[in-house]
Amino acid sequence: MTRVAIVGGGMAGLVAAHHLRRQDSGCDVEVFEASSRCGGLIRTERVDGYLLEHGADMFATQPDAALRLCESLGIADRLILPQPGTRGAAIVDRGRVLRVPDGFVLMRATRLLPMLTTPLLSLRGKLRLAMEGLVRPRPEDQEDESIESFVVRRMGREVLDRIVQPLVGGIYTGDVKKLSMAATMGQFLKMESESGSLCRATFARRRSGVDSTERTSAGARYEQFRSLPGGLQELLDALQESLPAESLRTGQRVTRLESAAGGWRLWGDAEANGGDWGEFDHVVLALPAALSARLLGDLAPDVAQRLRGIVAASSAVVALGVRESDIARPVDIAGFVVPLRERRPILAASFTSDKFAGRAPAGEKLIRVFFGGELQREWLERDDEELIRIAREQLAELIGLGGPPRLARVIRWNDAMPQYRVGHLQRVREIEAGLAAHAGLHLIGNSLHGVGIAPTVLAAERVATRILTESASALPG
Ligand SMILES: Cc1cc2nc3c(=O)[nH]c(=O)nc-3n(C[C@H](O)[C@H](O)[C@H](O)COP(=O)(O)OP(=O)(O)OC[C@H]3O[C@@H](n4cnc5c(N)ncnc54)[C@H](O)[C@@H]3O)c2cc1C
Repeated sequence: MTRVAIVGGGMAGLVAAHHLRRQDSGCDVEVFEASSRCGGLIRTERVDGYLLEHGADMFATQPDAALRLCESLGIADRLILPQPGTRGAAIVDRGRVLRVPDGFVLMRATRLLPMLTTPLLSLRGKLRLAMEGLVRPRPEDQEDESIESFVVRRMGREVLDRIVQPLVGGIYTGDVKKLSMAATMGQFLKMESESGSLCRATFARRRSGVDSTERTSAGARYEQFRSLPGGLQELLDALQESLPAESLRTGQRVTRLESAAGGWRLWGDAEANGGDWGEFDHVVLALPAALSARLLGDLAPDVAQRLRGIVAASSAVVALGVRESDIARPVDIAGFVVPLRERRPILAASFTSDKFAGRAPAGEKLIRVFFGGELQREWLERDDEELIRIAREQLAELIGLGGPPRLARVIRWNDAMPQYRVGHLQRVREIEAGLAAHAGLHLIGNSLHGVGIAPTVLAAERVATRILTESASALPG
């Protein structure tokens, strides 16, 4: 029997455990989770008739790992899509909430006319964007660049400041001056290198019919996301039910990792056995980078040092349940993002109950307002009352929200959103090369291979497959 310890019972750790326990894998798996519940950053709460996601509220279908996971858990037929009619996103511009031009997705325009007519860009900004096809591609052997560098180089500063910064910076709650283009938006670099420009890549894609989803989207391709009627907690529940109850050891913080004769020894802060949790053939650290670095400090100082370089931003979510009739200027969008140049205290707002059915009682709406991130962390020093007051004030200005909310909650996420800065992919390669010297030690979690659920599931699945392969080849005969 191969003994595997997974440290961290968030999505990554649970997925790795699920794959390792499938069929007759010959693996004995234990998940050590510091808090009293598994799920980490994912948590759904039912409160006063609302279904409130504390963090993530949907997952992407590309890569398809999370979708396949739902199939293997037997819950694929329960998946729900964002509601039709509220698929676009909007951007705040000089106090107005303006829809992202149809066909503009993240940093690429797939339709010309909406870009020419959008009030988000000046005539000069539109002309600069129209020249994108004439901008020479960057030689392929160049080093990584920031999102700011790529967008200004190809489309001009106005497109960056007014559209891409709030859309992309909002997803990563990061600074476009520091975020790595290769690690966050690699698909656009590929288009540049393969077709010479985004414009030419778009023509080629249109001819082959691959851009049909993008052409009907605005801001994000909402059709490519899924959730569940009971929120993402349903996915967590199904994952936990797929594992033997005794393998999930909640309330067990791992405090030390040592190499041992037969592999690795784990220590925790529990009273039992003096905190010694025994020896394992494989240890999978499914933690934020800074916490993995702490456990690896003495064992693999170079790896730990590189992990410490993957910093994470904090944020706060103010969830407001409001009466529809209290919104004077309703907007049929999934949410809006706020450019830095607007100098507002909020990053974005998501109309959660418009996005997915069953999130609010009839006649009411659930809105989540986001604060903080890499560039506006000073707002996180405000207390809950103050954040609720500011969120209401902003919604009053932007969509005419009046009246007292039926529900007001503040959820804080400290150091939760990893920042993939310029050079991130090289850093990850160095981390993996360093780890290769420590057989049986593995790293997963959203600090490395993608910040969202789908890439996190994929990386966890891959590590589980590697462990299964290694343990099968270690069997005698
Ligand atoms: C506000 C917010 C909104 C988001 N929205 C989306 C979205 O809509 N779609 C999407 O795809 N992604 C979204 N994400 C990202 C998504 O939540 C993450 O990709 C995913 O949950 C990461 O899972 P993980 O297992 O890597 O990490 P975590 O969830 O951080 O899990 C790590 C676990 O390790 C435990 N732990 C820590 N230290 C120890 C220790 N010493 N010993 C034992 N256990 C320990 C922690 O308690 C935790 O449970 C969002 C994130 C945030 C913060």
